[in-house]
Amino acid sequence: MAKEIWVYAQKDADVVKELLAKSQEIAKVIGEYKVCAVALGDDLKDAKNLGDLGAEKVYAVEHTSLKEYRCDLYAKAIEKLVQKYQPEYFFFGATAIGSELAPTVVALVKTGLAAHCIDLRYGKDRLNCMVPAFGGKVISEIYIPNARPVMASVRPGILQTEEAAKYEAELVCEDTSFLNDETSTEEFLGFEENQKDTNNIEDADVVVSAGRGITSDASWNALTQLADKVDGAIAWSRSFIDTGRVKDESSMIGTSGKSVKPKLLVNAGVSGAAQYVCGIARAKKVISINKDPKAPIFAYSDYGVVGDAEKILTAVAAKL
Ligand SMILES: Cc1cc2nc3c(=O)[nH]c(=O)nc-3n(C[C@H](O)[C@H](O)[C@H](O)COP(=O)(O)OP(=O)(O)OC[C@H]3O[C@@H](n4cnc5c(N)ncnc54)[C@H](O)[C@@H]3O)c2cc1C
Repeated sequence: MAKEIWVYAQKDADVVKELLAKSQEIAKVIGEYKVCAVALGDDLKDAKNLGDLGAEKVYAVEHTSLKEYRCDLYAKAIEKLVQKYQPEYFFFGATAIGSELAPTVVALVKTGLAAHCIDLRYGKDRLNCMVPAFGGKVISEIYIPNARPVMASVRPGILQTEEAAKYEAELVCEDTSFLNDETSTEEFLGFEENQKDTNNIEDADVVVSAGRGITSDASWNALTQLADKVDGAIAWSRSFIDTGRVKDESSMIGTSGKSVKPKLLVNAGVSGAAQYVCGIARAKKVISINKDPKAPIFAYSDYGVVGDAEKILTAVAAKL
């Protein structure tokens, strides 16, 4: 078993940086472990740059058949790598790709996976993978006692880590000739770019978030007006979707939504359920408006305003 912590370096995914930083933290605690990145593709000349994000070593698996992501080929390539080097830990971002690839690799190498973790903590000689359970009411600690590598997928944008140390990464180029004989059951049809998100809550400096307490047209108008005045993105809780004012989960905060990290977050009419607050842990300043002085959201806020959201939002927007 190699004393290595691997991170799947999904192309252009910010979560890779977060996972490498977290892996460095874990390596510091257990000692003598190397943090490594695993890159797949048809052109990996820049793979060494993963050292800038914290990888000491980069395993580069380069082959024309890996140009576009196809789960079966990627999983087979990773399986070979795992069998050869036998890392002890292997982390993936729980992105759309990671959420498919990680369990597929797990099935091939016959190990265990803690999926959709919100944190990884090393303590008492084992790695605990923190996963919300029972609808987020408890955070369970999952550990994998015997099977190796210990694999985990971690939600993007949720790990709280220090800046990773940079390395002049050692590049290990793998022999991928076995892929010449592999065929994929998946056919690549084309690539459609995401439409530009004009309300990107994950990267916004200011986020104004609506909960079920935003009930009237007037309160929703006041909230959107406030967001407009402070150039903020508009987010919402799951229950706010039930009001019918927004149509989907695209800007929903929480365990099954997105994590935000603005300089300022304003919650209006949000109660502060566990599934919601886990998505706001990285917000710098939090102001919450709620008519109930006992609302749990106040425990996660720097400033609390007890009162009717419509009145307060309207007054603040007018002042601005
Ligand atoms: C598996 C699972 C996953 C989930 N994932 C998510 C998730 O990702 N994100 C998420 O948000 N939820 C999620 N939920 C739902 C979550 O448990 C809560 O139900 C939800 O977050 C509550 O949203 P809310 O705070 O807007 O509504 P409520 O809990 O109904 O709170 C409304 C608040 O508004 C206040 N209020 C009412 N009127 C006014 C007024 N006029 N002025 C000021 N305040 C007012 C009330 O006092 C109350 O505190 C999940 C649940 C499950 C079971």
